[in-house]
Amino acid sequence: MIRIVLVGAAGRMGRAIAQAAQDAADLSLVALVDAAVPAGADGRWTTDVAAAIAPGTVVVEFSSAAGAANVAALCAERGAALVSGATGLDAAQVAAVEAAGAKVALLRASNFSVGVAALRRALATALAAVPRAWDVEIVERHHRMKKDAPSGTALTLASDVLAARGLSRDALRHGREGVVGARTADEVGVHAVRGGTWVGDHAVLLAGEGETLELRHVAQDRGAFAHGALAAARFVATARPGLYALDDLFR
Ligand code: NAD
Repeated sequence: MIRIVLVGAAGRMGRAIAQAAQDAADLSLVALVDAAVPAGADGRWTTDVAAAIAPGTVVVEFSSAAGAANVAALCAERGAALVSGATGLDAAQVAAVEAAGAKVALLRASNFSVGVAALRRALATALAAVPRAWDVEIVERHHRMKKDAPSGTALTLASDVLAARGLSRDALRHGREGVVGARTADEVGVHAVRGGTWVGDHAVLLAGEGETLELRHVAQDRGAFAHGALAAARFVATARPGLYALDDLFR
């Protein structure tokens, strides 16, 4: 039985993961951690993340950028494997999270859905198949409550495009406003739409002369991320210390 400590348990993702974990015979939710414990919560709930993370547990964290860095340090200290899902981290927070990989098994991903993993592979194929002159723009849509923009997934897709084309981060254009002039061949546009209850929608547009190709993934339900996060939890439960990515699950 894999003992799971869920951090960010009261949030949208936390609730979806708790639901999916309850249906899994090999997983036991031993602690539910959140900065705000809901009314009527049972004895597994706590605000004390340091007390909840014990050696041998697998921590699944979908909280916040600051929460991610704090939890990773605690996992490294206690010897608990970690699945890290929060997005919107700055460079120092990413480094703090990834440092835990030197001590424990850690899998971090900006998107735990199988479909986005497939989208990334399809994007690599499409970029290799169209002329270099084709323009690339990324459009993401999320619910009105999302804190970070653009989404971690949009940034991952943008990094994939930059790497495929040998471009630096200076090539990114986050939205456009005013008299921006003609688009240069080497810019990669990233656009964040916010509203309603969109769970997560990412489109990569490849635009050529008189034709466009659009690759799009739509998450309709947080179960898409929750099942991937629990697959990652099973993976890190037996993996050697190290920093892993979602693709490691498919190898
Ligand atoms: P949310 O705001 O609904 O939930 C976050 C929860 O974490 C809240 O209940 C909050 O009280 C708690 N929290 C925040 N900081 C904390 C801390 N330091 N310690 C303990 N609890 C803390 O947000 P959400 O929609 O559930 O998303 C959570 C995170 O996961 C965000 O960063 C989001 O971008 C990311 N996310 C990642 C994926 C993925 O596949 N990697 C998918 C969806 C969302």
